[in-house]
Amino acid sequence: MESKQFQTPIEYLKGVGVSRAEALKKELQIYSFDDLLKHYPYKYIDRTRFYKIKDIQPDMPYVQVLARVTQKEILGEKHSKRLIVQAKDETGFLELAWFQGIRWIEKTIIPGKVYIIFGKPGFFNGKAQMSHPELELYFSGANQQKGNLTLQPAYNSTEKLKQFSLDSKGIQKLIATLLEQHAKDIHENLPLYIINRYRLMNRQEACRYIHFPDNSNQLKEAQYRLKFEELFFLQLKLLKNKLLRTQKFKGNIFDKVGNYFNEFYQHKLPFPLTNAQKRVLKEIRQDTQRGVQMNRLLQGDVGSGKTVVALMCMLLAIDNGFQACIMAPTEILATQHYETIKSLVDDGFIEVALLTGSVPQKARKAIHHQLEDGSLHILVGTHALIEDKVQYKNLGFVVIDEQHRFGVEQRAKLWRKNIVPPHVLVMTATPIPRTLAMTMYGDLDISVIDELPAGRKPIQTIHFYEAQRLRMFGFMKQEIAKGRQVYVVYPLIKESEKLDLKNLDDGIETMSREFPKPQYQLSIVHGKLKASEKEYEMQRFIKGETQIMVATTVIEVGVNVPNASVMIIENAERFGLSQLHQLRGRVGRGAEQSYCILMSKEKLSNDGRIRLNTMVKTNNGFEIAEIDMQLRGPGNIEGTQQSGVLDLKAADLTTDYEILTQARNLVIEIFEKDPHLAAPENQLLNQAFQQKNGGLSWDKIS
Ligand code: ADP
Ligand code: MG
Repeated sequence: MESKQFQTPIEYLKGVGVSRAEALKKELQIYSFDDLLKHYPYKYIDRTRFYKIKDIQPDMPYVQVLARVTQKEILGEKHSKRLIVQAKDETGFLELAWFQGIRWIEKTIIPGKVYIIFGKPGFFNGKAQMSHPELELYFSGANQQKGNLTLQPAYNSTEKLKQFSLDSKGIQKLIATLLEQHAKDIHENLPLYIINRYRLMNRQEACRYIHFPDNSNQLKEAQYRLKFEELFFLQLKLLKNKLLRTQKFKGNIFDKVGNYFNEFYQHKLPFPLTNAQKRVLKEIRQDTQRGVQMNRLLQGDVGSGKTVVALMCMLLAIDNGFQACIMAPTEILATQHYETIKSLVDDGFIEVALLTGSVPQKARKAIHHQLEDGSLHILVGTHALIEDKVQYKNLGFVVIDEQHRFGVEQRAKLWRKNIVPPHVLVMTATPIPRTLAMTMYGDLDISVIDELPAGRKPIQTIHFYEAQRLRMFGFMKQEIAKGRQVYVVYPLIKESEKLDLKNLDDGIETMSREFPKPQYQLSIVHGKLKASEKEYEMQRFIKGETQIMVATTVIEVGVNVPNASVMIIENAERFGLSQLHQLRGRVGRGAEQSYCILMSKEKLSNDGRIRLNTMVKTNNGFEIAEIDMQLRGPGNIEGTQQSGVLDLKAADLTTDYEILTQARNLVIEIFEKDPHLAAPENQLLNQAFQQKNGGLSWDKIS
């Protein structure tokens, strides 16, 4: 485990001092020895290999060549002064240039000698060139080769830090000092049985070799050890929380399947459930009979039918004398859920109400009363339903839709609505990658609906460039003539709100011209409208009074209009993958063949092209989620901010699925045998865990 030594503030490391420490804190959040130790290289430059000059390509990263210097000269005056050195090997010529430190460097270079030249190649007039390369005199003796030819670490730095001579090299020096002086204080934090079983490198070596590996095997072992350790302790924390929660909180027992559930299942449910839906219901049934509070994440692709499952769970709660609520992130979505539930359970069957910010005071009071006297069964709403004023008689089941928009705190707030906390079912809007699910929601149980209802035709996705716009209009007309409805969506991204609105305005104008009244009717919905106006426009579209819905991304989440079968996404290159997938999920909800058309400009970034190609290639949300994470990195996926994912220093959730699974399974195994980590062989773990979690009291719940 970390010895106290490593908590020492960074200014006390030899060679740092007050001002560099300030810069390190500000720029890289390096406060202590430990933070510096964990500032791992972001890549390693392979200095084991020499390139021939003729093999150097313009797009290469740093390379190393062995060449003889033939000539050196200082050119230019004052500001344009530069040192130009010519070098050659048996395959070609290389020009080296310096614009700073000219005089000193010039003195050290001896024409006629062979140098190891290391730098980032560029090309000028078709000639290979390097600016400010590192030069080292080459001796043909074997000794030198051994000493220098390794993997050189490269560290993230910033412009500011470079002013303090803390570029990659400078940071490397600090880390070398740290290891030289304090490596002896790096102690093991995993028990021997784990080290042996997974053949882990010991901690001290791993910390050294991740910075200064002698070869790539050693590097791999060091990385594996540190990734494993990091993921292991994160899982230990998550699963410990889960364990404590299940020990601490009793759960309401839903042991009856009563009239509400049965009546609905036998007489009201308009379609057979998919096997996946049945399986999830069974999992939840089991959870809610154990006397332990349920915290379950329900993952399923758009349109996989999560809402019906949620409703049936709520009916189960009602059968057992409880109330239920469902919370959605937007008013439109809450309204949609309300409508869906109302349409599935006709009047008089159960009492359902909608509570959002725009419900007038009087109606709100009535809802409060009904909740308190228990006559209201299901409350649907937005954040409004976690306000303190909202009190339930006996809340037994909570559904949170589109979780990533709600924080953990809000989840916790709902728990406190009842003495015995309600069971909680969290539904995500889009699937998230497996590794993220295991970390972000590692303290929850996970259910997956991995099957779409039968008879759905897969949505066809087409990518059109601006030049094909007329074809797109033609296609819209053709579909509208068949009685279908069409969404046209424009991006709305905060940083360029003005530009976005102009896009939308232009779009509305074009659409109105292309689709004139009275033959065509348009609904227009964007963020600047009042809730009531939005609602009015939405309703016209839902009722089929308008054929085209022109909108910004406010329609992204959850909206369900089965007759809408075409989704046009304008400036599709500006949307993220998960957002594109979300939007596409608005169609394909009825029996008709549905289409998604991605409109983009001709010139696309590399990532932009991958995103659009991915959309054309697959409808599978889980696959899309994985690619999204590869493109953006786990830290940029929505909702990861509070999850500890960002604190990972060694592990990478895009690539470390296997290590993560190993670590998680190991933790599960340990807790099964020794839930309090009381066994002698787990003492080291216990201590390390307590220390890592900052003396947090053990019965505190996250
Ligand atoms: P999501 O998982 O995206 O929330 P919804 O619950 O909104 O999906 O369901 C999408 C549509 O599919 C709804 O119109 C719903 O009534 C319908 N649906 C749900 N389950 C089934 C099923 N088993 N068979 C046929 N249609 C279903
Ligand atoms: Mg939904």
